[in-house]
Amino acid sequence: MTDAASRPAPPAPVSAVQALALEQGAPPPLEEVRHGVWSLAFPFGDGDYSLGYLIEGSDGALTLIDPGWDDDANLDRLDAALADVGHAMEDISLVAVTHLHADHLGGADRVRRASGARLALHAAEQRALDRRAAEALEADADIARWGAPADDEEALVAAWGSGRRLPHVTADLLLADGDEPPIAGRRLRAVHTPGHTAGHLCFVEPEQRLIVTGDHVLPRINPGIGLGGRTDANPLTDLLASLERVIALDVAGADALEVCPGHEYRFVGLAERARALVDHRADRTADAAAALDALAAEAQRPTVWQVAERMSWTGGIASLHGYRLGSALAQTEWHVQALGRAGELRPSS
Ligand SMILES: [Zn+2]
Repeated sequence: MTDAASRPAPPAPVSAVQALALEQGAPPPLEEVRHGVWSLAFPFGDGDYSLGYLIEGSDGALTLIDPGWDDDANLDRLDAALADVGHAMEDISLVAVTHLHADHLGGADRVRRASGARLALHAAEQRALDRRAAEALEADADIARWGAPADDEEALVAAWGSGRRLPHVTADLLLADGDEPPIAGRRLRAVHTPGHTAGHLCFVEPEQRLIVTGDHVLPRINPGIGLGGRTDANPLTDLLASLERVIALDVAGADALEVCPGHEYRFVGLAERARALVDHRADRTADAAAALDALAAEAQRPTVWQVAERMSWTGGIASLHGYRLGSALAQTEWHVQALGRAGELRPSS
């Protein structure tokens, strides 16, 4: 769900065990981040993992941010982690998720059933979950418009359109920007950061100088955009505004926020990393502009595919298939729209 790594040097890890785990391709062990705040890894796929966070309230109740991929092994991992910190499943009173992707939200319903916790997410994320079936058909129409080679279309529909099978879940508590989920003795604030998905949330704990960033800001990976359902807004425009929002939250020096991301490792330097992500997007927009210029010089009214073909992709556009190709073509169109040049594209027939 991410693009290739960016050029500027990534921020240094704060957590040595997480950095080592990344190097060795193994999930890092449970780690205490602050008093009453722990990070834990939830494996998924082929050696990948996401990072979740347990936060203890002054009443002993726990909040779990991002329960990870949905499987038995991850519930066992959570059980073991809880025992390690002197807690049990019933102590989890709230499961909060940064966004709807299966490696973050996936296990939410399983943990909710096991613990009796309430599930909280952003209202836009719930809307996206509720609209998934209808949107899949609209995504099929996008695929037809993009003009990808016929060989790719079937795989695109399977992975990006109506062929996608996505789980549904209903939250108990809908969060909006600025809301503080109920945690005794702590002020954890939800910050709406649309872009990666429309209802993506970060959670900031100003007193502890912590921010849980989900997939909005990661230390080395450039998160993809618009991967959480259709919106009226351009996800690229949303992302750039959301990056500015977290840049404004960071303070340089001793009061700098420590970033608790959804993957990789914790780091300090949120503003700098967010600026690198802004720059990465500016590069992609410039790439799209150059492709449009070249095609205009050939007096062509291109399809989205033809623009994407001339942009640079890690491994080249021909190496992308299914979901990754769908994401690349959608991103191409958003970059073209952000340039105000959508009118240069060939209209759908
Ligand atoms: Zn994600």
